[in-house]
Amino acid sequence: MKSENIAAVATPPGKGGVAIVRLSGDSPLSVAEKMFRPAGNAAVRDFEPYRMVPGEIDGGSFRDYGLCVYFRAPHSFTGEDVVEFHCHGGASIARGILRRALGLGCRLAERGEFTKRAFLNGKLSLASAEGMADMINGESEAEVRAGYLLYTEHLTAAVRARQAELTELLAGIDADIDFPEEDIEHTDLADAGERIGAIEGALSALASQYRTGKKIKQGVNVVLAGRPNTGKSSLLNALLGQDKAIVSAVAGTTRDAVEGTLEIGGVRFNLYDTAGIRSVADEVENFGIARARTLAEGADLVLFVLDSSEPLSEEDAAVWNALEGKKRLVVYNKTDLGADAALDPPADIRVSAKTGENIPALREKMLEMSMDGYVADAQFVIEERHYAALRRALAEVRRARELCGAVPLDLLGVHLKAAWEALGEITGETANERILDEIFAKFCVGK
Ligand code: GDP
Repeated sequence: MKSENIAAVATPPGKGGVAIVRLSGDSPLSVAEKMFRPAGNAAVRDFEPYRMVPGEIDGGSFRDYGLCVYFRAPHSFTGEDVVEFHCHGGASIARGILRRALGLGCRLAERGEFTKRAFLNGKLSLASAEGMADMINGESEAEVRAGYLLYTEHLTAAVRARQAELTELLAGIDADIDFPEEDIEHTDLADAGERIGAIEGALSALASQYRTGKKIKQGVNVVLAGRPNTGKSSLLNALLGQDKAIVSAVAGTTRDAVEGTLEIGGVRFNLYDTAGIRSVADEVENFGIARARTLAEGADLVLFVLDSSEPLSEEDAAVWNALEGKKRLVVYNKTDLGADAALDPPADIRVSAKTGENIPALREKMLEMSMDGYVADAQFVIEERHYAALRRALAEVRRARELCGAVPLDLLGVHLKAAWEALGEITGETANERILDEIFAKFCVGK
């Protein structure tokens, strides 16, 4: 099939050591021939694939001295012929070289078009392409680690194994339907039920990864709650290690949620400071209180901050009650002030935001409480799209198990086929154009 030559700058805009202009299609080498003069007497046509060749690159109104490399189809990123120019890392240099390539008949690549071509040419699965995007966009080490597992087809392998089991079941059912009278081994319903149950178990285990996977991708949402002046803003700053929130001795100055992010064990945590939950006439303050309640709703973990230098008040109790049902970590702050009464609720941890005492231990506890069962090299369901497809497949398989023996075989087949197709959306086999467009639009131009 004919494939238009596309071109784009593959490196980010701005100044850097090197910039890369990438070409892919049927004949990028014939474009390179017209805009690259190899050092010495070598001709572009003689390019040995996968070898950096030094020479002069034509940028239209200027020249640069850099490198050119040719990747021969199908052994390239896109599966097509690819040429890369490695020039000096100035925005106008890369832009000029790109413009020259466009002038020679290349079309400017769309977002993610190189990767889309790689997918369409069978170089990687859709989940793998998404993993690559997760690595590039990843803001924490955990996201990069999980993205790499997706990229290296760990989820694809698990999904394809379930698809193969479904295909085998479906083949047996089809044979039964097509040749009911024949002397062939018919589907043993008890055995089929067991096999469907095993697929259900495996899919359920995969889907349950998302509980942690979601936190890897979006970060763990932690809300600091407590009555005014217990030291929430100070604690937020101590956790972040910078002056992000405004600290003041006047009760009720933190009127809005302040957000900051930090990494613990490679996992991203989103921190929200809130105005104290308190009944006052001040409208702005009340707005903050409402916001605190809303934030606590969506939180993965709430740090309930108390002032250990003062007896607990009704206000503390009111906050505590408002957090009922949330995963709470009871933090007694201001230990540097000495008072250390045995209070109720008992402390999970005692810290001083002022001196930094026990702040590292608090970080550890936060990780432990919110990422229970996290194994860094085994987490690959981090995308909501994958989770949704797994859930749909799971529902179909569950239905098939419940119906096994109670309905005609062909109806069972309908559910198993639907499960197969839902799984195919993860790998890309059954993903439609809309899904592909949505995914590749998230990439940058040049990827
Ligand atoms: P918030 O209203 O809960 O956000 O409380 P702030 O962070 O604004 O702190 C209220 C007051 O307590 C400020 O004067 C802080 O300096 C003080 N404070 C906060 N944490 C500590 C601490 O660990 N030790 C001491 N001694 N004072 C603290």
